[in-house]
Amino acid sequence: MDYILQVHNLYKYYPGVKAVDDVSFAIPYGICFGLLGPNGAGKTTTIEVIEGIQKPDRGTILYKGKPRDQHFKQEVGIQLQHTELQQYLTVKEILLTFRNLYARRAPLDELVSLCYLEEIQDRDNRKISGGQKQRLLLAIALANDPELLFLDEPTTGLDPQARRHVWDIVQSIKKKGKTVILTTHYMEEAQTLCDVVAIMDRGKIIAMDSPVNLLNEHCRGVTIALPSSIDENILHQMNCEWHKVNNTIEIYTEKPHDCLSLLIDNNVDITGMVVRSQNLEDLFLKLTGTQLRA
Ligand code: ATP
Repeated sequence: MDYILQVHNLYKYYPGVKAVDDVSFAIPYGICFGLLGPNGAGKTTTIEVIEGIQKPDRGTILYKGKPRDQHFKQEVGIQLQHTELQQYLTVKEILLTFRNLYARRAPLDELVSLCYLEEIQDRDNRKISGGQKQRLLLAIALANDPELLFLDEPTTGLDPQARRHVWDIVQSIKKKGKTVILTTHYMEEAQTLCDVVAIMDRGKIIAMDSPVNLLNEHCRGVTIALPSSIDENILHQMNCEWHKVNNTIEIYTEKPHDCLSLLIDNNVDITGMVVRSQNLEDLFLKLTGTQLRA
C-alpha cells in the first residue's frame, strides 16, 4: 500500500514526561486519520513533531516515502489549536495574506465558499464568532491547497451546530482526495469523520483500526446505563464489567437479557435506564479504565 505519511518509533520526552513514547503508524493517501485520547495523552505533541514544529528525541518520519524536505512545508496545511491573527484585517485580507506565503495557492473564492465565509468575508476578523473563527482557521490551513491537512482539535469549544459545519467542511476536503490528520476528544467526531483512529494514552497508541473494526473486536455487547444507585452484590452477580460514570452506573454486557432479568428480579429501579450499542468512548473506557475527556 502507498502511504503519504509513515511514522516509525517516535519518541518525545519533556522533563519528567514521556509525551510520545514509541509511536508508530502509517497513513494511506486520501483517508482521515484520527488521534483520539484524553488531555495530556500526547496527541498535540505527536502531530507537532510530524509537522516539524518540534524536534523528536528519536524516530523516523517519512512523507511520500522520503524524509520531509521543503516540499513537505509547501504541501501540508496546519490548523493549530490556538492562532492569533493580525488585528484590523478583514477575513478576506487575512486569507489573501496567508495565500501569498505559498507558491501553490487555492482559489480565494473556493476557500470562501468551502468554509462558509461569504457573509463575513469583509468583516474585521476580531468581530467574528468562535465557530466562524474556526472556519477561517480551516480556510487558512487550506490556503496552499494542501495534500495533507493537520487539524488539532478543530471543534473544541464549539456549539453542536458549529461543530457540524466543521465536519461538513472536512467531509468536502476528503471528497477532494486530501489526507487529513485530526486530533479530537470527541468520539462522535472521530466516528463520523475518521477512516482509521489511533487511541492514545500516556504517550502510547493503545489501539488502532477503523472505528467499526475496533468496536467489532473489543465491544460486541451493549451498555446498560442506570441513573439509580445499585447494590454492588447485584452487580457482582451479573458477572460483567461495570463502571461508575458521574452519577450513572454503566454495565457492559454481551447478554443484556440476563442482566435485565437480574435487575428486575432484584427490584432495581430501572426508571431512566438506557440501553445502547457501544461506541469509541466505551472502547476507551474498556481499554484504559478512564474516560476520554478525563
Ligand atoms: P490535550 O488534549 O490537552 O491537547 P494532548 O493529548 O494533545 O492533550 P500534549 O499536549 O501532547 O497532549 O501533552 C502530552 C504531555 O506532555 C502532557 O503531560 C503535557 O503536560 C506535556 N507537555 C506538552 N508540552 C509540553 C512542554 N512544552 N513542556 C513540558 N511538558 C509538555
